[in-house]
Amino acid sequence: MPGCIHCGARTERARRTNLERLATRAVYHCSGCGARNPVYNSLAAIFQNRCACPLCGNSDLTRLAAIDRIDKITANPLRLLLGMVGAPLYHCTFCRFQFYDPRPPGPAPVRKSVAVNFRR
Ligand SMILES: [Zn+2]
Ligand SMILES: [Zn+2]
Repeated sequence: MPGCIHCGARTERARRTNLERLATRAVYHCSGCGARNPVYNSLAAIFQNRCACPLCGNSDLTRLAAIDRIDKITANPLRLLLGMVGAPLYHCTFCRFQFYDPRPPGPAPVRKSVAVNFRR
């Protein structure tokens, strides 16, 4: 399960409303802040102003200079055409999927860190 994009806490699949079923593939409920993190389906993802991984909806992406021959790359002809005209190549750090997208990536999810104070 991906971490919450707002606080980085663990998430679990949530039951979707009928309206959410039209635009999302999954909704994750955060156990920390209670936020609902949607993973938009491919039709609804077109209308977003930030790009996210088309497979898992993760916005924690790295930009690649060249295609990685080991990891899987998109077979979508529209995305391959975007790559030919100069759209940047992104790599999902969660599912290792590569795809072209002209939009900037969304905000990276917050990573939780644990700090221990040994002084009293
Ligand atoms: Zn959260
Ligand atoms: Zn992904």
